[in-house]
Amino acid sequence: MNLELRGKRALVTAASRGLGKASALALAEEGASVAVAGRDQARLEALVDELRAAGASDAVAVVVDLARPETFAEAVETAVSRFGGLDIFIGNTGGPASGPFLDIPRAEWERALGETLLPMVDLCHLVIPHLKKSDCGRILFITTVGVKIVQPHMVLSDSLRLAIVGLAKSLSLELADDGITVNCLCPGPFKTDRMEDLIKASMEREKIDRAAAEAIWLEEVPLGTFGDPADFGAMVALLCSPRGRFTTGTAISLDGGKSRAY
Ligand code: NAD
Repeated sequence: MNLELRGKRALVTAASRGLGKASALALAEEGASVAVAGRDQARLEALVDELRAAGASDAVAVVVDLARPETFAEAVETAVSRFGGLDIFIGNTGGPASGPFLDIPRAEWERALGETLLPMVDLCHLVIPHLKKSDCGRILFITTVGVKIVQPHMVLSDSLRLAIVGLAKSLSLELADDGITVNCLCPGPFKTDRMEDLIKASMEREKIDRAAAEAIWLEEVPLGTFGDPADFGAMVALLCSPRGRFTTGTAISLDGGKSRAY
């Protein structure tokens, strides 16, 4: 299937590794122009080389620290002026801390709010005027399967990502007349650095070995394996392509069957 993404212009946040990087690579493989946003310029420059080698029409690195809203406007403007516009915004963030509710102080809630929900709000303010000029505007937020099935010790992630689903659904109504689709992808356990951190946290908290910790993360996954980030990227590319034009206001699980949700 030709996804007709060649020449489409995308901005991906928290793109230097994991699911953000996989999303950027999948768009590049389909010939899109991709701006990758993150904190580490050198790491992003290396990714830009990978994106070009993968087939991107163009690629650029823009420095964005999601905890520092003052970094957002220049990054969006750089991408827009380099590509001559913007069609696709992939809103990815780092994962908030895990742990039991009573161990998480208010300051940690405020930090998580400032690094997950609020940057998506601020960035939407900046990108939507440009997406409105596109004939294929797309907003896709990367959230978590925790918005469908609550997960132990993930209260920060599950709570704040539900707010992002609410944001996406509201925007999907407001932007429908502009042909802009707004959706969430809800990953279950994918083999990324974040998953590695979560497995290690389980080992330390529960005093168990690696196999037992992995089993915790897989016990409710009927397919019984961790997801491959490249498969995640493929779904991103499909939804962001013109073929995704009839899918909006929804939150799609990529979770090996974990959520069992309708
Ligand atoms: P990851 O930890 O491997 O990568 C996160 C990326 O976010 C990194 O590139 C990191 O540098 C970047 N980042 C973190 N804080 C940032 C900041 N302040 N400014 C800019 N960039 C920042 O995570 P991942 O596994 O790729 O997951 C991506 C998202 O998906 C996370 O929000 C995570 O909670 C969610 N998720 C992942 C899984 C999984 O199994 N991997 C499952 C459910 C949800």
